Amino acid sequence: MPSAGWDGPGRKRVRFEPGEDFARALDAEDGLAPLRDEFLIPASGSGRARVYLAGHSLGLQPRRAKAYIEQELADWERLGVEGHFKARNPWFSYHELVAEPMARVVGAKAGEVVVMNTLTVNLHLMLASFYRPTQGRSAILMESGAFPSDRYAAASQIRYHGFDPETSLLELSPRAGEHTLRTQDMLDSIRENGPRVALVLLGQVNFLTGQAFDSAAVVEEARRQGCAVGFDLAHAAGNLELQLHDWAPDFAVWCGYKYLNSGPGGLGGCFVHERHGRGDSLPRLAGWWGHNKATRFAMPAEFDPLAGAEGWQLSNPPIFPLASLRASLELFDRATMPALRRKSERLTAYLEFLIGRLPAGFCRLITPSDPAQRGCQLSVRIGVDAKALVERLAEAGFICDLRPPDILRLAPVPLYNSFMDVHRLASALAQHAHAPSAPVR
Ligand SMILES: *Cc1c(COP(=O)(O)O)cnc(C)c1O
Repeated sequence: MPSAGWDGPGRKRVRFEPGEDFARALDAEDGLAPLRDEFLIPASGSGRARVYLAGHSLGLQPRRAKAYIEQELADWERLGVEGHFKARNPWFSYHELVAEPMARVVGAKAGEVVVMNTLTVNLHLMLASFYRPTQGRSAILMESGAFPSDRYAAASQIRYHGFDPETSLLELSPRAGEHTLRTQDMLDSIRENGPRVALVLLGQVNFLTGQAFDSAAVVEEARRQGCAVGFDLAHAAGNLELQLHDWAPDFAVWCGYKYLNSGPGGLGGCFVHERHGRGDSLPRLAGWWGHNKATRFAMPAEFDPLAGAEGWQLSNPPIFPLASLRASLELFDRATMPALRRKSERLTAYLEFLIGRLPAGFCRLITPSDPAQRGCQLSVRIGVDAKALVERLAEAGFICDLRPPDILRLAPVPLYNSFMDVHRLASALAQHAHAPSAPVR
């Protein structure tokens, strides 16, 4: 176990220790620890804060979200329709307040990013522009273990264009006996199938295994083969340090309610690389909010798209979800992604270290040990009755999730989780751990 017990390559080296004092010491020297107070943490019946490790599924509520939403409710009450231009934060341009902070989170230029819709909707809008199949080149190449919505979207687009997913949906699978994909296999597959592939579509962090892919290498190979390339950043945005502009995929989409804490069903993000300019050469599904701001309310018959990602907007955006997202993005700006990532690597390595001390055969880590190949989430395969284990953990105040039949996903989030959270969880696991009759695969 080369990295367990250490803080990641190129980082300050810390030899982890198992005791609770050590967790407290790590919290004491954590410069980001005060940010935890900016979030509302679910409490148990007795009022004691629970240990929340499900930020990969739904991020916690920023304390300020309520005030920001109430501000818009008050302006609506006070101004009615005039709030579009006269609200303290005019609704006409409200989405612009989040474009720059969102672009900083994903390593893009502000004009390359827009906050709109939800993830699968944005994926379809991007596929409408960037999936342009022809007889000879009709395939979408993706991971076999992609999130189901992405697969449904891809298969339905293939059918929509008159092709057959049976032959036009290519899926990359891990080698027999392995849980995660090897970068070289991904690149080889893109090279071998290149001439048939219209689009490479990759979830940058796999939702189930927590594996992070080498995005720069994938984009480079896909573009060398003449394929369009897009990312689903649902589990990467707000989790990893991304460099979308430099990696230069054609597009990326993500949701705002996982690591970005925008609230249930919150707004997603969309990136279109600046080399597409106004997107004049691309077909697109258009709506009035993507139209030139100067003439939008003159309502001319011809669509005149805004430059950049904003030109893909369809409708005027919902203000309340934008308000809660704003509250969260302010905290990302306060923390900065590089600092969050430094803490995250340490927090996750610490969890890995403590899991490594559980009785042999109780569980098996399927997320890669290499910090460069994962974000904050660790996925562990449980050898005992996993459902019963998660129920016992829930009774004891832990919120984490189980992907049936046996994968426990644990995400210590650097914005609001502490080293003590991780220590508490590991102690609870140790209490319930007993070796299964057969070792875990
Ligand atoms: C969470 C998630 C989604 C969810 O999509 P919505 O359209 O926001 O409901 C889609 N794809 C991936 C990879 C996800 O992790």
